[in-house]
Amino acid sequence: MPPLHPEEEARLRALHDTGLLDTPPEQVFERIAEFTAKMFHVPTALISLVDQDRQWFKACVGLDVRETPRDIAFCAYAILRPEVLVVSDPENDPRFAANPLVVGPPHIRFYAGAPLVTSTGYPIGTLCLIDYQHRDDFGSKEAESLAGLAGFAMELIETRRLHGFIDPVTRLPGRPILAEYFQAFAQGRGGEGGAVELLTIDICSPEQMNEIMRLFGPANADLLVKTASERVKSVMPEGAVLCHVSPIRFTILCPPGPEFDTGKLRDDLLMAFDTPVVAEGNVPVPLRRHVGIARYPDDAADIAGLIQASVAAISDARDQNADWALYDRQKHFAGRRAFDLLIDLRAALAAPQGQLFLVYQPKVTLESGLCTGVEALIRWRHPKLGLVSPADFIPIAEGSALMKPLTEWVLTQAIADSAEWREQGIDLIVAVNVSVENLQDKGFSGFIAGLLGSYDRAPIQIEVTESALMSDPDEVHAALTAVRALGVRVAIDDFGTGHSSLAYLKAFPADILKIDQVFISRLNKDPRDQTIVRATIDLARSLGYRVIAEGVENAETLALLSAWGCHAAQGYFIARPMEQAALLEWILERQRIPVLVSENRKPA
Ligand code: C2E
Ligand code: MG
Ligand code: MG
Repeated sequence: MPPLHPEEEARLRALHDTGLLDTPPEQVFERIAEFTAKMFHVPTALISLVDQDRQWFKACVGLDVRETPRDIAFCAYAILRPEVLVVSDPENDPRFAANPLVVGPPHIRFYAGAPLVTSTGYPIGTLCLIDYQHRDDFGSKEAESLAGLAGFAMELIETRRLHGFIDPVTRLPGRPILAEYFQAFAQGRGGEGGAVELLTIDICSPEQMNEIMRLFGPANADLLVKTASERVKSVMPEGAVLCHVSPIRFTILCPPGPEFDTGKLRDDLLMAFDTPVVAEGNVPVPLRRHVGIARYPDDAADIAGLIQASVAAISDARDQNADWALYDRQKHFAGRRAFDLLIDLRAALAAPQGQLFLVYQPKVTLESGLCTGVEALIRWRHPKLGLVSPADFIPIAEGSALMKPLTEWVLTQAIADSAEWREQGIDLIVAVNVSVENLQDKGFSGFIAGLLGSYDRAPIQIEVTESALMSDPDEVHAALTAVRALGVRVAIDDFGTGHSSLAYLKAFPADILKIDQVFISRLNKDPRDQTIVRATIDLARSLGYRVIAEGVENAETLALLSAWGCHAAQGYFIARPMEQAALLEWILERQRIPVLVSENRKPA
């Protein structure tokens, strides 16, 4: 047995701290080994790490084994001295003469090893050369070059941590290493059958971690995470790979094969956190952990997708108040579709002609039966999917930055159209739907002021849903007040569905109340709807609102609304939303609107 390093324990700790042992091959280290072999014209070059009882090769050129016992390792001697160890005649060197690698195959006849020394001074292994014939061309110059390359390799080993290869708290490999293992597992999959599975565990929620940080401080939070990592390690099956991918998140990659019981692993993992983790001052902290599971190739095509899928499963588990969940492809496919749709919408907004257009639905005043206004409704003719309903893409756009350009486009188009109608002697107030994102945009009222200026103050209204009004009352109120100051009237859309208290009605900066279709569509049949609608009309009128009913689909409903004093109505019974040309035709044909004959022009 070669002698041990004088500080063997600390040396081993330094080696294990690199997190390098038993990781898959990495291109950068393989390249160093290849380059070294070429440079010194040897068949074999290794990056060897000297562990307690073995030497393990991080990179290896010209040799088929991954490790050998420590007692036959030349490198075990090389780490005992700071300079390069050169063995040019092993058969006559008492340290190696009886070494089976010298006596028998592969018959080592030359060895040179430069120690890999950590910045704290511990030699963890070597960069070494092996030849199977005697060499006498390795002098001090060559030794210096080899030592230089070893220093370079060591620097790479130590900077891996900076690049997320190794987590500084748990010393576990990070995402880049996970990707390397995944590649190896996924390629091996063909022959072995079965899926590569990824189990991701969040040891607690982000909120709980913030709370832990706040209560115990960051150093103790780190300690807690480290303890948690030990628990995860304690249930790791042979062959699976554990990585630490974010402060509260660990992933376990399981190779394909029937011997892997991921159900058991999942249960063990959950059970490992059944007892609280002990923090500073012996305070037990029960960690609220969740596990999400995803499979390659069914759930994702690559490691990034697999992580994403397992994290989505964790969210599902949290939402369902369950300990764990499998990735639900069906459910999340919709999310993926939404994302694709958003990308396409962005393109459509960049060149709206041809894809985006407006339709207009008439609103009639019940007292006169005349149409005095229209609601602008956006339509999207998607190049591949055909007509996509705003009910499908508006909610997606609302969560994104696209709502601003979208609404600005609708407003501009609607005002331009209404100005054109006015030219033809038809005066209609156009209502445009506006989302809460628009009202949170500081430039919104300025944008409208600009439009009104450019189009000679064409009359417009905006419609804001009741839930948007409730979502950010102060900001929304300020925006609506600014818009109203420009003479733009504000309608509360979908009234009755947004769970607002009636008390709010007296404070909303709005002029018009649109009773939602759910109360109107069956009004002729449902006595309870009748009670609600009648009371709403009374209340709204007495608070000074104009009241519109939307979704009127039959004459009976229209008659009831009229009898109860509803000001206006909109719905399929009156007219469906129409493109501009059809709208003008509809209006002129029915002669139901006050056609304002301008001095120089009469309607056709
Ligand atoms: P909304 O503002 O409440 O618009 C009324 C919706 O009801 C329209 O659907 C309209 O076509 C439909 N409708 C009208 N009369 C009837 C009827 O008698 N029966 C039935 N069953 N439905 C009727 P649409 O055009 O599909 O729009 C859906 C929603 O999408 C709108 O609800 C609005 O919230 C949103 N939206 C549409 N265009 C825009 C837009 O330009 N900007 C924003 N922010 N939202 C828009
Ligand atoms: Mg509307
Ligand atoms: Mg509505």
